[in-house]
Amino acid sequence: MSVRTDFATVEVPNDSRVQKNENNMEREKKRLLHYLRQERKRGGDEEFGRRIKTIRKLSQFSHGQSNPTYKLLVEMTDGTLKSYVLRKKPGGNILSSAHAVEREFQVQLALKRKHPNFPVPRMILLCEDSSILGTPFYIMDFVQGTIYLQPKLPVITREERKTRIYENMAKTLGALHSFDIRELGLTSFGNISSGSYSRRTLKRWFGQYEKSITNKLVETPEKEVVMKLVAWLDANCPKDGEEVSDRIIHGDYRLDNLIYDERSDDVLAVLDWELSTVGCPHADVAYNCLPYYLPPGLEFYPSFGDSNQVPAGVPTEKQYCNIWAQNARLPNICGSSKWKFYVALSMFRGMAILAGVRARAVAGNASSRNARQAGSLVEVFAKRAYVVVVQGGASKVPRQEIKGGYEPSEKCMMLLEKLRAFMSEHVYDAEEVFERHATTNERWSLHPLMEELKKKAKAKGLWNLWLPLDSAALIKITNARGNDEALYKGPGLTNLEYAHLAREMGKVPWASEIFNCSAPDTGNMEVLLRYGTKEQQERWLLPLLMGDIRSCFAMTEPAVASSDATNIESSIAKSTNGTQYVVNGRKWWTSGACDPRCAIAIFMGKTKTAGPQHEQQSMVLVPMLNNHKVKVVRPLLVFGYDDAPHGHAEVIFDNVVVDVKESLLAREGAGFAIAQGRLGPGRLHHCMRLVGMAERSLDVTYARVKSRVAFGKPLSENSNVLNVLGNCRVEVDGARLLTLYAAHVLDQLGIKDSRARSAVAACKISAPNVACSVIDRCIQLFGGEGVSQDSPLARLYAGARTLRIADGPDEVHLETVAKIDLRRSKL
Ligand SMILES: Cc1cc2nc3c(=O)[nH]c(=O)nc-3n(C[C@H](O)[C@H](O)[C@H](O)COP(=O)(O)OP(=O)(O)OC[C@H]3O[C@@H](n4cnc5c(N)ncnc54)[C@H](O)[C@@H]3O)c2cc1C
Repeated sequence: MSVRTDFATVEVPNDSRVQKNENNMEREKKRLLHYLRQERKRGGDEEFGRRIKTIRKLSQFSHGQSNPTYKLLVEMTDGTLKSYVLRKKPGGNILSSAHAVEREFQVQLALKRKHPNFPVPRMILLCEDSSILGTPFYIMDFVQGTIYLQPKLPVITREERKTRIYENMAKTLGALHSFDIRELGLTSFGNISSGSYSRRTLKRWFGQYEKSITNKLVETPEKEVVMKLVAWLDANCPKDGEEVSDRIIHGDYRLDNLIYDERSDDVLAVLDWELSTVGCPHADVAYNCLPYYLPPGLEFYPSFGDSNQVPAGVPTEKQYCNIWAQNARLPNICGSSKWKFYVALSMFRGMAILAGVRARAVAGNASSRNARQAGSLVEVFAKRAYVVVVQGGASKVPRQEIKGGYEPSEKCMMLLEKLRAFMSEHVYDAEEVFERHATTNERWSLHPLMEELKKKAKAKGLWNLWLPLDSAALIKITNARGNDEALYKGPGLTNLEYAHLAREMGKVPWASEIFNCSAPDTGNMEVLLRYGTKEQQERWLLPLLMGDIRSCFAMTEPAVASSDATNIESSIAKSTNGTQYVVNGRKWWTSGACDPRCAIAIFMGKTKTAGPQHEQQSMVLVPMLNNHKVKVVRPLLVFGYDDAPHGHAEVIFDNVVVDVKESLLAREGAGFAIAQGRLGPGRLHHCMRLVGMAERSLDVTYARVKSRVAFGKPLSENSNVLNVLGNCRVEVDGARLLTLYAAHVLDQLGIKDSRARSAVAACKISAPNVACSVIDRCIQLFGGEGVSQDSPLARLYAGARTLRIADGPDEVHLETVAKIDLRRSKL
């Protein structure tokens, strides 16, 4: 459908673009006339007001959702009738920074002055005084021509005309993007200094969206998918300097914002500059290409249906972008992964705009009677964005989310999406690098990539995810020395929320370290949180939380059965004056002690040799860096893996002297109790990762059995292979649900409650056993490659197998479960 815009001189009574509400405007007309005549107006045409005799009509266009726009018909002093357009801010409570008609006026004025051939209407005047029409407004020339509302151009029959209309649209946008903002005098038109355009846009529109849903009356069925989309955008957002961002962009450049000359098909005017700013031209043209992506039937964002239904004569998206690129003198990135980001961002922005319209409709101050309808499209828009762009295809139907139970919360889902994107972008690709490093003589030194990845994870807020709110509340640090509190306190997840993230990290053996979520540091940090003094926390906990140092936990001894912690024999003897301890003992399986960053050990030993058995042990802090009294004897091997540079060391503590006040944790005799508490959430973290390890093994095996052909058919077509895989799935899901349940119970009751202890012990048995058995079967299906360094399975198996022993052997946990049950059965 096209709309002729020549009703200024010839009355078009049934034109749907003009609402017949002139009668209501008498008062406004009078005030406006008085204002226009009164004085010279700054900017635009200074003489304009003096030439006006009277205002004949002021009638609102129905087109244009956000800033009410009016046709202004005036009689000049020489008796001629002239048409203008008046555009104003809407009334009521509007979001700050939105509807800036002053900016619309400024950008069009600059464009007309510097590039007279660029099609914008001539600006007449700007009035920032709200007493005239209730809000600021501006007046511009009325441009006669045709507006095409439907991208399919159903009213145009000749294909070459459709081509021309699209070519001219692309050329005009390209020309806009070729202009120099300095020459236009518009360098301060956008907030260029604060990060990349895309980051700013994401932040701004997410902020607008959030504000738009604060009113409880606004229904938000789209919220979950919006959160996922935002997480995806955040994870894929170009960084500073990675995008062109110093051009004037229109912000809402669509076919129905252009006025065409019906004879030449030239663009006569580009309208609606409300969203214009200084920004990224690729984002602008991606927004312009949304009709290639949106579903049919959206009244406010009409489309082709999808890119396969582009009508004859209309260029394909790629051809269209080529024309734009030639005129903008910029590269055409259509089809690239960056392009996908800009399309997603555009859809998100469109969704946020619609959400704003919806909010105004609910608040009762929308500028259009169609605002309510626009609001109902918010969900359609958000889902389409997610399906088309994030999932990568219009044909895919979004998987229905399972709600309730132990499914991730919204907050967790956002982080999970971010984490998954991070893992795909950085972690899986780095596996080979670290594996190779682990086979060189340099392996006991740190690969620089690890610190690089940690920095990236921090920047994404994927840091200290393990730290629950109740633990973070125990931070006593006041001297944070410029460290970012939001970073070291983490996002404050529950154990249940963290379980979903840990599962993802578990898929790559060393991935948790990137996010400061790895053992034994997490367990040690938990100890410092619960039992450390303010000074101990400032000295050791803060750098651990920031990932600047690492730590180890020295409990297990080669000489005694250490699954029974009361057996620990190392000694922590007090000096005669009572101010120092002398620490002696031979430990082994002290994980992390070989790491060059390992600065602190939590050492367990006896401060007493008599009295109740559970009260004899204590824990003290022993500095590790340059401590010549601490000797790392050797790294132990796990099935031949030394896990460098972390390592599991045999260590001798030989008359190490430490200060009592600085080193003692909690009190003398609390060692056993601390050891029990330390391993509550810590054990669970291992279980969560084990589920991820099993799932990763299955993932690589699925791909393998589908492609590996033996005896004339893919392995996956053998019923016994299906049998194996089916059983694996059942077992992994069982272990996963048990782990989530344990996390949930731990969140609800705390580790002191026997139900939580039983649940944690149960999954400490289930998770490593299931992981071992599943990985073993995956190795079998892989054949020889499964036990080699060419698949991740061998290392995953080694890691999973040790976890049936580390943190206590299966038998001890089985005993715990059974004893608690037996106690309960007596009741
Ligand atoms: C890779 C790895 C990393 C580790 N990291 C650390 C670390 O950082 N810090 C640290 O201090 N320790 C660490 N450990 C040590 C681990 O915690 C101990 O190995 C574990 O507690 C078992 O102690 P143990 O080896 O002395 O075995 P023992 O106590 O000698 O037990 C041997 C076996 O006896 C059986 N058993 C024990 N108790 C019972 C029972 N009640 N009923 C029936 N059977 C039983 C079990 O089969 C058990 O496996 C790590 C171990 C490994 C393998």
